[in-house]
Amino acid sequence: MANDCLFCKIIAGTIPCNKVYEDDEVLAFRDIAPQAPTHVLVIPKKHITGPAAVTEEDDSLMGRLLRAARQVADREGLSDYRLVCNNGAGVGQSVFHLHLHILGGRPMGWPPG
Ligand code: AMP
Repeated sequence: MANDCLFCKIIAGTIPCNKVYEDDEVLAFRDIAPQAPTHVLVIPKKHITGPAAVTEEDDSLMGRLLRAARQVADREGLSDYRLVCNNGAGVGQSVFHLHLHILGGRPMGWPPG
């Protein structure tokens, strides 16, 4: 838990969220500013600042995160969806607690902007 981290506060319940999935290691909730009909954030409860901060110790947790994302996508009725994980402010990371964006429910171009 990092005291100054928005997502740690959501995990702790001091900031509300629209929760769609939770287990002992992972939480998923709807993005406050959705960029697609389905836009859910999947986060580890462990405070990791971003994908570049993942260590060998997190190998199993990263698997849990991906499997949780799939469960959320299934529940949302999505067979096609995009997972986005920004690393660094230069590509748009604004919250420095690792998160996967699940985006789906509309056509998407490639490459992303
Ligand atoms: P990123 O820009 O990749 O760091 O993604 C951070 C995401 O968190 C953005 O899509 C924001 O809309 C979202 N966000 C920020 N504050 C909240 C909040 N309180 N509840 C849900 N999503 C949030």
